[in-house]
Amino acid sequence: MNGEDAAAWIRRAAELVAADAERLTRLDAAIGDGDHGLNLDRGFTAAVAALPEGAVPGKVLIAAGRAIVSKTGGASGPLYGTALRRAGKALGDAEDVDAAALGAALRAALEGVQELGQAVEGDKTMVDALVPAVAAYEAACEGALPGGDLAACARAAVEAAGKGAEATVPMQARKGRASYLGARSVDHLDPGAASTVLILRALADVVE
Ligand code: ADP
Ligand code: MG
Ligand code: MG
Repeated sequence: MNGEDAAAWIRRAAELVAADAERLTRLDAAIGDGDHGLNLDRGFTAAVAALPEGAVPGKVLIAAGRAIVSKTGGASGPLYGTALRRAGKALGDAEDVDAAALGAALRAALEGVQELGQAVEGDKTMVDALVPAVAAYEAACEGALPGGDLAACARAAVEAAGKGAEATVPMQARKGRASYLGARSVDHLDPGAASTVLILRALADVVE
């Protein structure tokens, strides 16, 4: 993955978020305040506008993360912004990112989200999609040689994220606005887990 691919990831994520903004907002209306689609659409639009020309992947992701933090309202903005900045930082100055380096960046993104939001698996948040996604990526990429099959690792991450998101349906929220609903948060898909699937699908789409 080079700088152009990283920029393509952010642009593809913006497309998928825009296409699904209404669904994300509907999910958030059920257990939150109904702004998740709008928040992310605004954030990723700002990220696309902030993409630097000719930069290495790490710098691309840091710029996108900064834009998302500054332009996205709600809990999800700082969380996704931190995720992208941490991923970018983990990539450093590498011009070309291989499967192992991207796996380490995804792990760093997850750690950033958990440090900031203090959510663990089972709290009914984006963490429920991210934890299995990162684990599946690592499992699929174990022993992958430099230049190994990044696309296969990314596909494994998307599949696991989807299952992780589905698994939030029966959960009772313990973090974020949905937690205010107590038992009434049960039987709904967490909007942040749903958007995590989109962002990872965007990655898989561009490294295909
Ligand atoms: P807000 O709830 O402030 O309106 P959004 O609607 O944009 O923000 O995002 C809500 C999503 O953010 C939730 O569905 C959940 O996945 C995620 N979220 C909320 N709080 C946390 C947290 N502490 N840790 C991880 N994710 C969280
Ligand atoms: Mg909301
Ligand atoms: Mg809100």
